[in-house]
Amino acid sequence: MTSAAIVGTGPNGLAAAVTLARAGLSVTLFEQAPTIGGGLRSESLFDAEVTHDVCSAVHPMAAASAFFRAFDLPARGVRLLQPGLPYAHPLPGGRAVAAWHDIEQTAARLGPDGPRYTRLMRPLVSRSRAVVDLVLSHHRGVPKDLVAPLLLARGVLAHATTRTPFTTPEARALLTGVAAHAVGKLPSLASAGVALLLGHLAHSTGWPLPEGGSVRIAEALAADITAHGGTFHTGRRIRDLRELEGFPLVMMDVSAMEFSAIAGPRLPPRYRRALGRFRYGPGAAKADFLVSEPIPWSNPLVGRAGTVHLGGTHADISRQETATVAGRRVDAPFMLVADPAVTDPSRASVHARPVWAYAHVPHGDDLDPTDMIRRRIEEYAPGFSDTIVASRGFSAAQYETYNPNYVGGDIAAGAMTPRQILMRPTPRWDPYTTPLPGVYLCSASTPPGPSVHGMCGYLAALSALRRHHGMTTPPDLSPRQKERP
Ligand SMILES: Cc1cc2nc3c(=O)[nH]c(=O)nc-3n(C[C@H](O)[C@H](O)[C@H](O)COP(=O)(O)OP(=O)(O)OC[C@H]3O[C@@H](n4cnc5c(N)ncnc54)[C@H](O)[C@@H]3O)c2cc1C
Repeated sequence: MTSAAIVGTGPNGLAAAVTLARAGLSVTLFEQAPTIGGGLRSESLFDAEVTHDVCSAVHPMAAASAFFRAFDLPARGVRLLQPGLPYAHPLPGGRAVAAWHDIEQTAARLGPDGPRYTRLMRPLVSRSRAVVDLVLSHHRGVPKDLVAPLLLARGVLAHATTRTPFTTPEARALLTGVAAHAVGKLPSLASAGVALLLGHLAHSTGWPLPEGGSVRIAEALAADITAHGGTFHTGRRIRDLRELEGFPLVMMDVSAMEFSAIAGPRLPPRYRRALGRFRYGPGAAKADFLVSEPIPWSNPLVGRAGTVHLGGTHADISRQETATVAGRRVDAPFMLVADPAVTDPSRASVHARPVWAYAHVPHGDDLDPTDMIRRRIEEYAPGFSDTIVASRGFSAAQYETYNPNYVGGDIAAGAMTPRQILMRPTPRWDPYTTPLPGVYLCSASTPPGPSVHGMCGYLAALSALRRHHGMTTPPDLSPRQKERP
């Protein structure tokens, strides 16, 4: 039986391991941290009864991606809970705008922009699976039936961030808040693409939270790997490829920069130089709060949402994001906030509940963001500060120490520029291969990039199975497949 080493146990490393183990390979996983999961870890930070998501919390991609559709989280007991509203966006003066699961309900609150919003979203929602499979691929051709809706949507969104046909502050802020998930310059083609993908998912498979926290997804993946003979080594950072001699296949769920350091002089100079040109983007700085009550949003609509975008108007967010990309700190940067117990009551104890929030900050910033985030939430939810029982800040610089994939705190493992979306991390026909035979990259530094979708790991594993084992049909990943005795 061929043996494969997987370095890194984030969602992509785990997805690669599941796929290879299901194809009959013997998989061994190495993780530098004391626990597995990468961006899927959840921990009790202050109170044994309250779990906080250390990185990811909300999972539109895990609900939609081809890997997770095949793996079938719900059939494995991981409940993806849909919030009352996928996301909301408070505005100055106590106003707010939100996305409903239903397009019409969303459009109905956008005044004269309602029909435009419907025209933008409906063609994408009606072909949602094809849109998802195109965007979460390694981008090699657009199916014919998607050309028209994508051209329409691209045109509308490109305008939505510059000479926008959307006239209401509500519609403009709603779309810009989603576009800002791209963590980059606004407006840009990359942010428009992200807005289309995430924006339409709010109206199709949703923006769910896993019951019990993100760690449930990692546990389900790990259980499948173990059931198929895989083994885990935690607390083991791989620093040199020579440590993996004896494994004919090596899957690297590490950043492009870490891969360059691990493979070192074995890499041809040209490829190494190309890896060196791969750029990292702004950082994320996070605050976890233990609070005594739900966030007291001044507009109650906001309190029904799974995710809250804090950034103010379209113009404010564009200014914040552009400054952050340029390396300048702003007093109130764009932030994402979740009060997970709103969607999943199991996340609250009798006395306390978690609040998850992170801000976009300059690359490598070492500022503890706790106070900045507290003040910003307070602005839209007066009294929030009085509910705080405990808090912990995590700067962008600390994220890199926590996980070497987050270079400078860049949680996308590489800037989401148009070039780096199409060619991650270097221009190669098969972006998962490296010049080293049997060594593959499978982290978010490869297409389709960041988020918990497992597609980098899945596509890299399929590439390895095709090249090394002549397997052209993906293995069955469903929970019904027989486990190894
Ligand atoms: C604050 C924050 C909020 C986020 N929110 C969301 C969200 O709500 N929804 C969403 O979809 N995504 C979110 N993300 C992004 C998401 O977590 C990542 O895109 C995703 O985890 C990337 O998966 P990955 O497998 O490529 O890498 P990672 O999850 O980063 O995992 C890589 C693993 O490899 C290990 N590793 C690295 N180098 C080595 C080495 N040399 N030897 C051994 N082990 C090594 C690391 O310790 C880590 O465990 C968030 C991220 C952060 C930090």
